[in-house]
Amino acid sequence: MPYDRCDRFDCDVLVIGAGIVGLSAAYALTRAAPGTRVTVLEKERGPALHQTGRNSGVIHSGIYYRPGSLKARYAVRGAAEMVKFCAEHGIAHEVTGKLIVATEREELPRLHALVQRGRENGIPVRELGAAQIAEYEPDVRGLAAIHVGTTGVCDYGAVARHLAESLTAAGGEIRYGAEVAAVDRRPWGVAVRTADGAVVRARVLVNCAGLHCDRVARLAGDDPGMRIVPFRGEYFDLARPELVRGLVYPVPDPAFPFLGVHLTRGIDGGVHVGPNAVPALAREGYAWSAVRPRELAGTLAWPGSWRIARRHWRYGAGELHRSLSRRAFADAVRRLLPDVAEADLRPAPAGVRAQAVLRDGTLVDDFLIREAPRTIHVLNAPSPAATASLPIGRQVARRALGVLAAAGV
Ligand SMILES: Cc1cc2nc3c(=O)[nH]c(=O)nc-3n(C[C@H](O)[C@H](O)[C@H](O)COP(=O)(O)OP(=O)(O)OC[C@H]3O[C@@H](n4cnc5c(N)ncnc54)[C@H](O)[C@@H]3O)c2cc1C
Repeated sequence: MPYDRCDRFDCDVLVIGAGIVGLSAAYALTRAAPGTRVTVLEKERGPALHQTGRNSGVIHSGIYYRPGSLKARYAVRGAAEMVKFCAEHGIAHEVTGKLIVATEREELPRLHALVQRGRENGIPVRELGAAQIAEYEPDVRGLAAIHVGTTGVCDYGAVARHLAESLTAAGGEIRYGAEVAAVDRRPWGVAVRTADGAVVRARVLVNCAGLHCDRVARLAGDDPGMRIVPFRGEYFDLARPELVRGLVYPVPDPAFPFLGVHLTRGIDGGVHVGPNAVPALAREGYAWSAVRPRELAGTLAWPGSWRIARRHWRYGAGELHRSLSRRAFADAVRRLLPDVAEADLRPAPAGVRAQAVLRDGTLVDDFLIREAPRTIHVLNAPSPAATASLPIGRQVARRALGVLAAAGV
C-alpha cells in the first residue's frame, strides 16, 4: 500500500465498536453531513452486547457531576434528549424520578452538598425529612432524602438497535463479526485489518471500543496514557418488586460515585439490586470463572492498578465480601430497605465497567476524548455515558468532520 497516497477508500469515517457511543457517533455523522460514508466494525454478532446491553438502564439526571464537566453538561442535555428519542421512536422508557437517601448522620452534609450541586447543574430537587420519604417509597427508611424528578429508565439495547437501523437506512454500513486486529496509520488515513484478514481503508478512524479502547489506541500507535481497568458490577433481582416503586440510591461515596448498592425498578417492572463492584479477571469477565490471563497480566502490569489497590483496599475488601456472601449483600440492601431478606435476592446478569485509570492510580472522572493524527479516541465513557450518548456522539462526529475538513475532503 503506498505510504503517502491512497487511491481507493472504503469509507470516509471508520468507527470501531457498535455500542451506544460508537453508534451515536456514526448516527450523528450521517445527520450532520449526509453523504459521508460511514462504516462501523463490531467484533460481536450484533450491537450492544457489552456495556450498553448490560447496564442498569437508568437515564441519569446529572446531579452527581462537577458543574462544567463534560459529564454534567452531557448528562443533563443527554437525559432530556434520550427521553425525547425514546418517545419519538417508540422505545420503552419512563421518567420515574429517584430518591437519594441518607441512612447515617455522617452522610447528611454530603446529601446537602448534592442538593447544591443539583441546583448548580440546573436539576430540580426536593429535600425530604425522614417522614416524607414514605410519600415516594413507603418501605424505604432513612434520616433524610432528596427527590430528583428528571431521572428515568429506558432500554439502552433497544436505543442502540434503533441507532444501528437508522444508520444503515441512511446508507451507513455495519460489519458484525469484524474484530479489529491491526491498525496501520498513514498520512492519508488508516488501513485497518480485522481478525479474519479483511482490510478497510478510511480517511478517519474513530475508536469507540469501550472495554478495549486503550488496546485499540495502542494498535494505532498512540500512547493513551491510561489503561482500562475492568470492574464487574454484580446484581440481584428482587423477588418482591412491590417493595420499591422507583429508583432508590444511597448517598454516593465521593471516591467511587458509581458504587453503593441501589434499587432500580426497570422498564420491565422488575427491581434490580446492586451493584457490588469487584475487579474483573477479563475485560469481558462477567463471572469469577471468566479469566483471560493475558488481559489480567496487562491490568496487573499497569502501575495504576496497584496504586488503586493500595489506596482503596479497605473499600475493595468490603465489595469482595459482598460478592462472596449474599448475607453481607442483603445487609447492605437493608440499610435502605429493612424488609429485605436474603431469600429475596436472586442472582441477575452482571456487567463490566470500562474505567480508565492513570499511571498514578487516579480514576479518570470525566469523559475523555483524545485526538491523534487522523484519529479520534474515546478513552473514558463510563456511566452516565449511555444517558449522555447522543451529545457524546455529536461531539465525536464534529471532531471527525473537522479532521476530514482539514484533510480537504
Ligand atoms: C454494570 C453497569 C451499569 C451501568 N449503568 C448505567 C446506567 O444506568 N446509565 C448510564 O447512563 N450508564 C450506565 N452504565 C454505563 C454505560 O453502559 C456505558 O457508559 C456505555 O454503554 C458505554 O458505551 P460504549 O459504546 O462506549 O461501550 P460498549 O457498549 O462496551 O461498546 C463497545 C463495543 O466495542 C466493541 N469492540 C471492542 N473492541 C473491538 C475491536 N477490537 N474490534 C471491533 N469491535 C470492538 C465491543 O464488542 C463493544 O460492542 C453502566 C455500565 C455498566 C457496566
